[in-house]
Amino acid sequence: MASEAIEDLLKEGRTFPPPETFKRDALITDAEIYDEAAADREGFWAKQALDLDWFEEWDTILEWDAPYAKWFVGGKLNVSYNCLDRHVEAGHGDQVAFHWEGEPGDTRTITYTDLLDDVQRTANALKSLGVEKGDRVAVYLPMIPELPTIMLACARIGAVHSVVFGGFSANALRDRINDSDCKVLVTADGGYRRGSVASLKPAADEAIEDTPSIEHVLVVRRGENDVEMVDGRDHWWHDVVDSQDADCPPEPMDAEDLLYLLYTSGTTGKPKGIMHTTGGYLTQVAFTHRYVFDLHPDTDVYWCAADIGWVTGHSYIVYGPLANRTTSVMYEGVPNHPDEARFWAIIEKYKVTQLYTAPTAIRAFMKWGDEHPAKHDLSSLRLLGTVGEPINPEAWIWYQQHIGGDRCPIVDTWWQTETGGIMISPLPGATTTKPGSATFPLPGISATIYDDQGEEVGVPGGGYLVLDQPWPGMLRGIWGDDQRFRDTYWSRFSGRYFAGDGAKRDDEGYFWLLGRVDDVMNVSGHRISTTEVESALVSHPSVAEAAVIGRADAQTGQAIAAFVSPRSGYEGDEELAQELRNHVATMISPIAKPASVLFTADLPKTRSGKIMRRLLKDIAEDNQLGDTTTLADAGVVDSIKDRYLAGSGSDE
Ligand code: ATP
Ligand code: MG
Repeated sequence: MASEAIEDLLKEGRTFPPPETFKRDALITDAEIYDEAAADREGFWAKQALDLDWFEEWDTILEWDAPYAKWFVGGKLNVSYNCLDRHVEAGHGDQVAFHWEGEPGDTRTITYTDLLDDVQRTANALKSLGVEKGDRVAVYLPMIPELPTIMLACARIGAVHSVVFGGFSANALRDRINDSDCKVLVTADGGYRRGSVASLKPAADEAIEDTPSIEHVLVVRRGENDVEMVDGRDHWWHDVVDSQDADCPPEPMDAEDLLYLLYTSGTTGKPKGIMHTTGGYLTQVAFTHRYVFDLHPDTDVYWCAADIGWVTGHSYIVYGPLANRTTSVMYEGVPNHPDEARFWAIIEKYKVTQLYTAPTAIRAFMKWGDEHPAKHDLSSLRLLGTVGEPINPEAWIWYQQHIGGDRCPIVDTWWQTETGGIMISPLPGATTTKPGSATFPLPGISATIYDDQGEEVGVPGGGYLVLDQPWPGMLRGIWGDDQRFRDTYWSRFSGRYFAGDGAKRDDEGYFWLLGRVDDVMNVSGHRISTTEVESALVSHPSVAEAAVIGRADAQTGQAIAAFVSPRSGYEGDEELAQELRNHVATMISPIAKPASVLFTADLPKTRSGKIMRRLLKDIAEDNQLGDTTTLADAGVVDSIKDRYLAGSGSDE
């Protein structure tokens, strides 16, 4: 669809009620569940928790002593039992858990019985390496089936996993291992990325030169690249795991026992080791996965295209889907190998019914062109999801039209590593959506908006996004840094969780996420959100992606600096810069007009694809660059910096 047509649709303020064809079989089709949850929030979550299998039921649903929550106190359960055994015992052992596809095109089909056997063998292997309940296990793997297997094996024996994204450097891995004193590291020789093998073991070797807590390294063979193995310390997975007994009873865990540690993306600063526990977490991810994605376990083929190295993969590739007996697709590689249609080929091949991905990916698909999805039969899709950043309405509509064929509801899901599970999202069979809005807090979740003084902002209105009631999947702390936990989340508004994001509600109460409050710009006394200006820029046909920041300005307080990545076929010259400034002025207001526009092929992003505005700000204000360890490509920052300083930031 041409961009002008999209613009027309947006101008009309078009809303999207749940499609009738979707509604017919949807699990939830009306708003009753919101009332039920609001009437008795704790009782509501207890009812959801009963969908899990408990070895012992809890005595108390919630103990809340802000900022410390305990859910389902006294309850005992095992996460791997809930994800595997109970489905096999119920006769679903032959159901596929994962259709796994390697980047080169090799495949593995893993049933629930297969996965249960693998997990038990792996759990016994961990025990043979001396891993005990409460020990931390670092995991540094590509997107291969051994990754969910090792996570579930840890959960089975009560060990705590700390998954580190396979694209991170030796330094990043070492810091994370040392932060929580991991005993064992699980890695691979290498994995496939962009058509060749990216080695992992050498980075792991470098990291553990300086990690005194690591006793053993378990190495999966995947890339077949040459690696060095240290006698007594390093063991091949196939040597240690394959010979184990496929019987390892699940450890009954306390509802509040630690399940895993996971470090945040580092978009705003040094990553934090977020702690998630067992009973409440599994309850929330299972509930949200079922109802947000409208999961029908007997017929759906669900695909979350995130990496398991991020919380999205933990909650919506591993724990939520498996707890709900989902058949999932899991893909190892990048979306543009061997060509830009790889995702659409995968959807056609496995007849995927739900796709969950990120705005950054959707914008890349748009940039690559409509012809790629058009080549494939995507008619199996019945729902689309997005997470990770605010989605600009342009990308939302494109997704809806070109991928969803105008027939799939879109769930824009707001949540964080810290929240464990989805917090603000449509229920696809019940909620009328608006492109760019995450709509409403889910049943059982309470979110609101505060002003600077900590007063609740009415509807309509904007300010700080706050979660004012505890929820089951919430973080239980930052590993080893309780002070940072209190300072980061609980001090801005005492006893209330401040998410770090800005948001507004429109006159119908819909939530619109506005980006990080640290990024909010103040131009001549006007507060302007980065998201709104970026959205306006991206709505221009020449713009593929945009990031804006407020840089210090003697006259106006802050001046808006825009960094724009043009679509192919457009020349980033002074004329276009002027046109874009005027475009923003008409779309929002002359106050929001960027003072400078710098064209750049790429924007600095975290490894999870989020734009790192703080680095752009450092560049624009000529400051020392802040923490860059989670940056995907350091070259991008250097090249923007050179050009910015050379004055090509075309100032007005
Ligand atoms: P760090 O906290 O280390 O800076 P991060 O916040 O990027 O890293 P994540 O927990 O992966 O780490 O990301 C959560 C953040 O992503 C949210 O706080 C929000 O800013 C953004 N986000 C996620 N989903 C959405 C969404 N649907 N709409 C708008 N923003 C979103
Ligand atoms: Mg964050």
